[in-house]
Amino acid sequence: MTQIEIAPQTNIKDLVAALPLAAGVLEQFGLGCPGCGVSSNETLEQGARAHGLRIEPILTALLVAQQSGRVPAVAQVDRTPQRRAPGPFTGRAKIAHIVPIMSGKGGVGKSLVTALLALGLRRRHLRVGILDADITGPSIPKIFGLHVPMLVEADPHRTTPQGQPQPLMTPALSRSAIEIVSANLLTDKEDTAMVWRGPILSGVIRQFYEQAVWSDLDVLLVDLPPGTSDAPLTVLQSLYVDGVVLVTMPQALATMIVRKAANLVHQLKKPILGVVENMSYFIAPDTGKRYDIFGPSYADTVAEIARAPVLARIPIDSRKAELADAGRVEEIDDPICDALATALLDAIAARPKEPETISLI
Ligand code: ADP
Repeated sequence: MTQIEIAPQTNIKDLVAALPLAAGVLEQFGLGCPGCGVSSNETLEQGARAHGLRIEPILTALLVAQQSGRVPAVAQVDRTPQRRAPGPFTGRAKIAHIVPIMSGKGGVGKSLVTALLALGLRRRHLRVGILDADITGPSIPKIFGLHVPMLVEADPHRTTPQGQPQPLMTPALSRSAIEIVSANLLTDKEDTAMVWRGPILSGVIRQFYEQAVWSDLDVLLVDLPPGTSDAPLTVLQSLYVDGVVLVTMPQALATMIVRKAANLVHQLKKPILGVVENMSYFIAPDTGKRYDIFGPSYADTVAEIARAPVLARIPIDSRKAELADAGRVEEIDDPICDALATALLDAIAARPKEPETISLI
């Protein structure tokens, strides 16, 4: 029998390596961590906390599995995340940092960059949410493999000016406990869908922000629609953002378009935290030779325009795209995630905003 110690400090990946049965036990608790990159450096206690679960039943079930050699049944109450339920919910979530991710145009990999950033932040045991405001495409839910609609209930504490109940959404939880709110995760039931049909995009984004039962988060990333339309403008004006991350790629045209986006952010007197150049180059796996597929890097030029540092240059990598397209983005275990998170946290620290947290709901 495997004798790995089962304790709150036990590393999830080590545990599953020594006791493969543990993956099945954790799965019972809705902890998909063993299959995702976060598990390499997360303990049982950290994993439980991130998912809003109590650690005791998890330890007990793991010990039973270790002793008996089979996965025990887990009570419903023990595998239900302790999230803020709409019923007794009266408190307000505290979100320490809000960072919109913006791009001048579509297809530069903004959603993938948002996901990689979220993964890097989660691997530092931060509580992370993604508000998918790019509601034109299903990218964020798709790359996280989320299919179950968010729970939408009537807010017991609020009504619309017309006296109708306001919808209140519970964010979906990814395998590695990233909270996600997206139009693509709305139920297709007619009564709730009605609420979302009318308002224009900007209004919907605001609703996603205000009418979601976010947990207290360290960082909320907002995946903005591409370009400089009304929607990104509203987000920048109405949310208490720390600053924007601009995603670009090495094309002269992208650089011109990103100038427009940077100007917009500056006009609104919001900081740009940094620039990420995606699809920056390609390293041939067989020869290790570097190719500038889309041409030379413009990251420094864009950084100058944005008056902000280059946070990262991300190479073209078909493996990342494959995992993302297969809904398994959380399995990307690449140093770029940590590099992005470190650069972002440094950039946030370098431009502190008022020392208050924003209140929601
Ligand atoms: P956007 O949100 O800017 O429209 P996406 O994040 O949806 O762009 O990316 C567009 C496509 O490009 C996706 O299929 C994605 O997997 C792929 N992609 C993004 N970044 C990279 C990269 N660095 N290497 C390879 N493929 C990438």
